[in-house]
Amino acid sequence: MRFDIITIFPGFFAGIFEHGIVRRARAAGLVTVETHDLRAFTHDRHRTVDDRPFGGGEGMVLKAEPLAEALGSFGIEPKAARSETIRSTTRVILLSAQGRPFTQAVARELARLDRLVLLCGRYEGVDERINQLYCDVELSIGDYVLSGGELAAAVVVDAVMRLLPGVLGNEASGEFESFGVADAEISADQEGVPRSQHGAGGLLDYPHYTRPAEFLGLRVPETLLNGDHVEIRRWRREQQLRKTLQNRPDLLENAILTAEDRKLLNAIRETIRRGEQ
Ligand code: SAM
Repeated sequence: MRFDIITIFPGFFAGIFEHGIVRRARAAGLVTVETHDLRAFTHDRHRTVDDRPFGGGEGMVLKAEPLAEALGSFGIEPKAARSETIRSTTRVILLSAQGRPFTQAVARELARLDRLVLLCGRYEGVDERINQLYCDVELSIGDYVLSGGELAAAVVVDAVMRLLPGVLGNEASGEFESFGVADAEISADQEGVPRSQHGAGGLLDYPHYTRPAEFLGLRVPETLLNGDHVEIRRWRREQQLRKTLQNRPDLLENAILTAEDRKLLNAIRETIRRGEQ
């Protein structure tokens, strides 16, 4: 997969993709990340990329012409002029606080494509005509305002890249993390016992522990030490439900829950209501 990032701060990305899984994926030739300096597509002495907003008001706006020229420099035409092949393999994404939420489901959709083009806004944002003419989707990484789209672009690259075949050591592991799909499907016909040792199934992941078994007076839960794998899976499922209920109850609405899960959830709700843990 190829990622093209348009930014006024290409140096921002100098170290960010040099670590861990992302670095290995690049080194193995599974992904390419190209950054494009927006200022290289200006033609005045000051390399101006922004201008005042029509209608007045605060701040500056990234100009349409350099953005269009930058996109054209690597073959991205306005949507109306794109070939069917480009349309089905490429997405041009505007990072924006006003965008659709970027979720794991969106990351999974994007991971099926060959190429993502990411436009990083700055100041008050990007001239809206770039969005209308060139962008397939506006994505927001959360309900807060960043000073630029660069961090958001890096988040999208990281989350999408790790879903590509061959990037993670264990290909299945992306399915079995928080927001994963696999366990939800499986647990529905396995009486609430998730298949995976790492599973989340549309819920949040369960807590993880490693040695030592005791740390600052806190012992690892006994279930994890006793080697009974069915019990361990049941404990993990209960923890997934508990964590999701506590931190992201909205996810429970779309999770696939078994009768066993629902019983566990009611029991957890009851312990929370009574102030127990
Ligand atoms: N005027 C904009 C607003 O009120 O929504 C905020 C612009 S922000 C200061 C500058 C740039 O940061 C945006 O153009 C966008 O590219 C990026 N940005 C800010 N928040 C973001 C978010 N939550 N998700 C993705 N990109 C974001």
